[in-house]
Amino acid sequence: MKPIGLDAGHGGDDFGALSPGGHVTESMLNRAVAHAAKRKAPDLFELIRLDDEHLTWRERNDRAVALGHDLVIAIHHDSLPANPRARGLCAYHGVDNDRTRDLARYAVNNAPSELLLGGRVICAHDDQSRVGDEWLQRPERVINAYTADVLLLELGYLTNRANLEFVRSTVGIEANADTLIAVALRWVKLHREVWTSW
Ligand SMILES: [Zn+2]
Repeated sequence: MKPIGLDAGHGGDDFGALSPGGHVTESMLNRAVAHAAKRKAPDLFELIRLDDEHLTWRERNDRAVALGHDLVIAIHHDSLPANPRARGLCAYHGVDNDRTRDLARYAVNNAPSELLLGGRVICAHDDQSRVGDEWLQRPERVINAYTADVLLLELGYLTNRANLEFVRSTVGIEANADTLIAVALRWVKLHREVWTSW
């Protein structure tokens, strides 16, 4: 069985987004969600980033190619310091990519309700939404980094108090991992002919 690639964003000296005060790093949470999903569904996933290490985009893609992934789920968390009320889940798919568009829709429909209070967003990766002068996302960097199909999930805002409390909790990490499992099982059902080991 070909596993689906889970790529926990950032790592090493690249912390990604930070909570107010900087106690919680996106890098740490991305890794926690990836490990929780791998622990719950070991046959379904392979981790692209294993440790707290810095990987270039090239290294990430090389690992995904070497592992034979046809889908990479890139795990991230958001921040928007200029608007602490911004919260919710964002799912990005490739432009004109029906396979990952379907997954993005499925992800937001199966995400923990605590995360969706602030709304759900499904975007093609060239949508460049911004608030004021602040870019919400540069999702094209992530989506274009891999040869495989990519679903980019931003699993809540570290700059929103309610989202932060949820995504750093054990319950929140497990719930986000469950979203990854639901998405992966849908991918397998739709795009793999044989599924024997689940
Ligand atoms: Zn990130």
